[in-house]
Amino acid sequence: MSTIIGGQALRDLVNDWIGQGTLVAGPGYVKDDLILYRWLHRSDQLLLESYERPHNSIKEFLFPKHEKLYGYHLDGRKIELNEVPPLETPQIIFAARPCDAAALPILDHVFNWDFQDVFYNRRRSLTTVVTLACQEHDEHCFCTAVGGGPQDERGSDAMLFALGQDQYKVRCFTEKGQALFTGKLQESTRTGKVGPGPGQRLDLAKVRAFVNANFESPRWAAMTLRCLGCGACTYNCPTCHCFDIVDEKVGAAGARVRSWDSCQLAMFTHHASGHNPRSVQSQRQRQRVAHKFDTYPAKFGEILCTGCGNCARVCPVGLGIMPVLAAIEREAAGEPGTPVGEKSVSR
Ligand code: SF4
Ligand code: SF4
Repeated sequence: MSTIIGGQALRDLVNDWIGQGTLVAGPGYVKDDLILYRWLHRSDQLLLESYERPHNSIKEFLFPKHEKLYGYHLDGRKIELNEVPPLETPQIIFAARPCDAAALPILDHVFNWDFQDVFYNRRRSLTTVVTLACQEHDEHCFCTAVGGGPQDERGSDAMLFALGQDQYKVRCFTEKGQALFTGKLQESTRTGKVGPGPGQRLDLAKVRAFVNANFESPRWAAMTLRCLGCGACTYNCPTCHCFDIVDEKVGAAGARVRSWDSCQLAMFTHHASGHNPRSVQSQRQRQRVAHKFDTYPAKFGEILCTGCGNCARVCPVGLGIMPVLAAIEREAAGEPGTPVGEKSVSR
């Protein structure tokens, strides 16, 4: 037996949550054919039937693009600090893709391993994640190559499975997930099938071996020549988490603000002396691959990638991490064939 809910009942439930003051985010059109995870005002803004992957990730609902850490006011030599009041509003991330939710245990670790980030942890404790198991995938998806899959449960409090005929099977994994659906589900003999998942495969051991043996190789430039250094791949990645902290001040008052940063931007490692240890784009691409597939896994035992494919989906020049990993595999097999050369200028 399974537990199911009808599509209209599901939409009514979403409207009930919004009406009760809960913040609800889910996939929806923002313009033309651009689908993003966004805050919902009504359930008819929710795109439940399409499996097309949103171009952003759910991390922004837990780790916002910009966040005030505290305010301050200067009065001569006196500084008055103004704390940011703790968040109170619960939030639900609804119909998230499993590859987005699978990034949350990674972010939980990143924001707690050496320092407990109260801002992230507060949002996380107020958040319930309901995922939608994938029936379809596109050419950029490779979750199954990095230990995930179309019904990966990691990070999900509950998961929906489309059964057709406007019905959804609901599986609850945590008390938070159960609390959302208590009294709303019916028993059924219908069981949902998920898609087989993407067929792309990777030999991660080869990738790690190449990274370690070829750190200074000119082949990095050949493999990543197209990269513009725009940072879109990192901003839309569910696991990328780098940030910068700056003071923004007008007159005597200001705030300390945390904003997303990106290892693909030249200024990311620009020293005050003017020296930049990653002065060309191929070094920044090497950093991204090495951190996700070698350095971080070696230290914490986990790959910093869920195979969502967003980096390739949003890349203006068709790069992203999978094409680089595929090029590494070809290099490791002695089959280069990628264009060589890069301007040796800082940008
Ligand atoms: S590196 Fe690319 S495929 Fe991997 S999680 Fe980030 S955006 Fe998704
Ligand atoms: S790989 Fe693509 S998305 Fe990422 S920085 Fe380079 S051009 Fe931008």
